[in-house]
Amino acid sequence: MIHDDMTQNEEKMAEMTMEKVKETIRDVPDFPKPGIMFRDITPVLENGSTFSYVLDHFEAYCRMKNPTCIVGIEARGFILGAPIADRMNVGFIPVRKPGKLPWATESESYELEYGSGSVEIHKDVLDSTDRVVIVDDLIATGGTALATCRLVEKLGARVEGLVALVDLAFIPWKDKLERYEVKTFVTYDSEE
Ligand code: AMP
Repeated sequence: MIHDDMTQNEEKMAEMTMEKVKETIRDVPDFPKPGIMFRDITPVLENGSTFSYVLDHFEAYCRMKNPTCIVGIEARGFILGAPIADRMNVGFIPVRKPGKLPWATESESYELEYGSGSVEIHKDVLDSTDRVVIVDDLIATGGTALATCRLVEKLGARVEGLVALVDLAFIPWKDKLERYEVKTFVTYDSEE
């Protein structure tokens, strides 16, 4: 039942579903290289109703975990993680690609299809009193998320959970992240 005093935006939000969010995600074949189907979430961010709806779900999950701060993975994990930290009045901590953070860093490498990648965090930003939730847009192999968990643990903090909008279920990321609780809202069962 939609009341008369609901704003247009509230009405749109009441009708929103994760199925509609999934329909809003744009599929871009062969990006950034041949054979990859890129799941582009920018249309979800461009639309106020889908963006707020996704943030509401991220916030509900994060509140359950009662973290001392939110860790966001560059770059789309910043867009989704920072507003959640603000909503919860806790700190936001960026995990970045190498050479981007200006202060002393801890770093962690992970395997890519060809070669390896790494992520960095400021060394002094967490300690054993911290419990964190890690935020990103999408989990594919789980390599980036696992390296981020290790970074957090290297600093003595505890990973309470990971949350991402999308996961690619046809890639065995669950084995890689089996020690952690992972929450996602949109799943792709195949590359198509
Ligand atoms: P992975 O470490 O394999 O789990 O890759 C996760 C990171 O790469 C995330 O930060 C995603 O933004 C990005 N990514 C990997 N595969 C895709 C894809 N098919 N579509 C969009 N982003 C992707």
